[in-house]
Amino acid sequence: MKTIGILTSGGDAPGMNAAIRAVVRSAIYYGCKVYGINRGYKGLIEEDIQEMNLSSVGDIIHRGGTVLKSSRCEEFKTEEGRAIGVKVLKKYGIDCLVVIGGDGSFNGAQKLSELGFPAIGIPGTIDNDLAYTDYTIGFDTTQNTIIDAIGKIRDTSSSHERVNIIEVMGRHCGDLALYAGLAGGAETVIVPEVDFKVEDVCNKLKTTQKRGKRHSIIVLAEGVGNAQDLGKEIIKETGADLRVTVLGHVQRGGSPTAFDRILASRMGVRAVELLLDGKAARVVGIRDNKIIDMDIHEALSMNKTFDKDTYEMVKILSI
Ligand code: ADP
Repeated sequence: MKTIGILTSGGDAPGMNAAIRAVVRSAIYYGCKVYGINRGYKGLIEEDIQEMNLSSVGDIIHRGGTVLKSSRCEEFKTEEGRAIGVKVLKKYGIDCLVVIGGDGSFNGAQKLSELGFPAIGIPGTIDNDLAYTDYTIGFDTTQNTIIDAIGKIRDTSSSHERVNIIEVMGRHCGDLALYAGLAGGAETVIVPEVDFKVEDVCNKLKTTQKRGKRHSIIVLAEGVGNAQDLGKEIIKETGADLRVTVLGHVQRGGSPTAFDRILASRMGVRAVELLLDGKAARVVGIRDNKIIDMDIHEALSMNKTFDKDTYEMVKILSI
């Protein structure tokens, strides 16, 4: 019988709970023991650990956030910190670890694997910034949160004939801005992957204004720069009545969509199956709607390609 540890780490994402539930339930189904490690690598070092049973994960599939809590832990980036972590894992008789998180958390899992401790990563991040997988858990829910906000802002910006800049999350990745911008009917989408000129944004505004359209939505990815500064430049150039909305942490919360719950469930089960097969140092993903797994080093060394076709399409649809 294997003993599996599970933790959530880094930025939280809606659907992490569904993934925890899938790991715990499938592990117990296959006769394993499961320990939940609270607050990510920090809780591991501090031995904040409890055994999980079927009811520990009851009533959580629909809840945002993570019942195991999450945190960032600088100590785990040091050899000493990781040595404590491995010691704690051994103390509890944990044979292998499932890490749900983003690329930072996967780096931690990779380092554990290098120390000979089997770890499997499940991608839980709203940013969709991992190259090896089409989708990460939480991305779909956050897109929906953003388009809901865009819709509401559109109502008022249309009434008052205003220009709105909506700043969305995603760190260095423009996926949230791109797809939510497309689905929300934004006039302009600005992402870190593509250079842009303020002049072009202003010219587009002037053209649409000439056509009689006085309201406009600009979706700006946080990785590009400061929304307030951009707003000031646009006002200076066009004289537009402009407001800036930074959506902030509302994007991290909320009940996960069906897509994220299903994705998290499928990935959670695959992670346990990999561990039962004696696999280690792998990450789970999805490609062409098939659950896949690959070597963690390979996955982390891949560069994400930006979806330029969709970006161009947004331009066509927002003339
Ligand atoms: P995310 O997983 O959402 O990308 P972070 O980048 O903040 O979030 O990483 C989460 C945690 O993963 C960090 O606080 C740290 O404990 C661990 N981590 C990140 N990078 C490394 C690394 N190079 N080595 C070991 N642990 C790491």
